[in-house]
Order: sequence, then C-alpha cells, then structure tokens
Amino acid sequence: MMRYIEALLICFALLLSASCAGPTEATGLVVDTTACIGCGECEKVCPYNAIEVIDGDAVINPSLCRLCYRCVEICPEGAVY
Ligand code: SF4
Ligand code: SF4
Repeated sequence: MMRYIEALLICFALLLSASCAGPTEATGLVVDTTACIGCGECEKVCPYNAIEVIDGDAVINPSLCRLCYRCVEICPEGAVY
C-alpha cells in the first residue's frame, strides 16, 4: 500500500512540474536584432498584434503571440525564428 501511495505522489509531482513549465519560454520566437532591419513587414502580417517595431527592431509580445509563424515566413532577413 505504501508503495502505491509513493508512486502516486511521484506521478503527481511529475505532473505538476510538467504543467508549470512556461510554454512561451520553451516554444517562443526570438528576434535577432543584429539581422532585423526594422522594415515592419512582420508587424503588418501578425494577426494578433503581437509583434511591433520599436526603435528600429521588431519586438515580440510573448503573451499575445500564438506562434502562427507568419512573421517568420515574411521576414526578408530571416531575423525571426
Ligand atoms: S520583417 Fe524581419 S526585418 Fe522586418 S521588422 Fe520584422 S523582424 Fe525586422
Ligand atoms: S508568430 Fe504569428 S502571432 Fe506570433 S508574432 Fe509572429 S505573426 Fe504574430
């Protein structure tokens, strides 16, 4: 019986740690500011207003981004990945 309870507790702990991992940190996109030329194409195609050019560089708002990859596809410099 104790083994069963121990196994149950371990499963519960594993489940908790998996669900606590930040999805935007693990799967989010980044902008290479050395490659970005500030053309604004990504801003125009983003359906969620999740990316904007600020001071010449695109900046992604991870809380709005839905990972549709339109900005990745449109970027002429390959600066979003
Ligand atoms: S499309 Fe690419 S180069 Fe243009 S602003 Fe966006 S990230 Fe920068
Ligand atoms: S992946 Fe889609 S939602 Fe996220 S910033 Fe790019 S265009 Fe916007």
